[in-house]
Amino acid sequence: MKMLELQQVSHYYFSKTSYTKALENISFSVQPGEFISLLGPSGCGKSTILSIIAKLMKNTSGNIKIKGEPLEKSDAEIGYMLQQDYLFPWKTILDNILLGPKIQKRYDETIENQAKKLLQEVGLGNVLKQYPAELSGGMRQRAALARTLMNDPAIFLLDEPFSSLDYQTKLKLEELVSNTLSNYNKTTILVTHDIGEAIAMSDRIIILSAHPGRISTFYEIPIELRIESPMAVRKHPKYQPLFDKIWQSLESAKSDNETGELL
Ligand code: ADP
Repeated sequence: MKMLELQQVSHYYFSKTSYTKALENISFSVQPGEFISLLGPSGCGKSTILSIIAKLMKNTSGNIKIKGEPLEKSDAEIGYMLQQDYLFPWKTILDNILLGPKIQKRYDETIENQAKKLLQEVGLGNVLKQYPAELSGGMRQRAALARTLMNDPAIFLLDEPFSSLDYQTKLKLEELVSNTLSNYNKTTILVTHDIGEAIAMSDRIIILSAHPGRISTFYEIPIELRIESPMAVRKHPKYQPLFDKIWQSLESAKSDNETGELL
């Protein structure tokens, strides 16, 4: 069964005098355990798609199903990691990570050890008892990543989660996220404008064009790249030709704005 299915999803943003067509007829499905990336220029509706899947807003038209069930009826946990960390400043890093399991009443010693291990893996093993304000922006983002992983979501939405990090940290986190999500067989949608990141992490890439956001092209990542770690993918002979092809697709995906006056 498909984990997620979007059928002819369109979305408009309205103001009193005008409208913006943010999405037009977006249709794609995601298999359980699949990692897909939405790649496209600013304004092509990437964040709108994630906000709709996360139930933060309702699409204007079209259907969305999770495990065959309409999105509005599904109680599947959706993990959403954004550029901002949204850590609680009055809680230690460890307590921030353990908050989800505690609310879900699945907290025990194993979970605490898992949280500590996860924090260790993202390089925060020595700041468990510190507060978010004592950490750098990059460290806080790593803590937010660990927190999302701890909630064990059915679908994992990542909205440019690495964009504020330095390059080395970003590559290490790509490895960590990729390995962890693959180990847990998580279904993931990553929004990014970084072609390399999309190739390095995904099974499939969906290229969107802007104004209105439409699907332009689908790319299956070759198996030779999918079995490699994100760091190794970038050194693979098939990486650069694919990067160049996707670059061309993004260039040709540019189109005119469709914004109008309401009568
Ligand atoms: P992306 O994440 O790809 O940059 P968005 O989903 O943020 O794109 O935006 C898609 C389109 O919808 C853009 O044209 C943007 O200006 C418009 N848009 C996004 N949010 C709003 C909003 N709250 N009100 C009006 N227009 C919006």
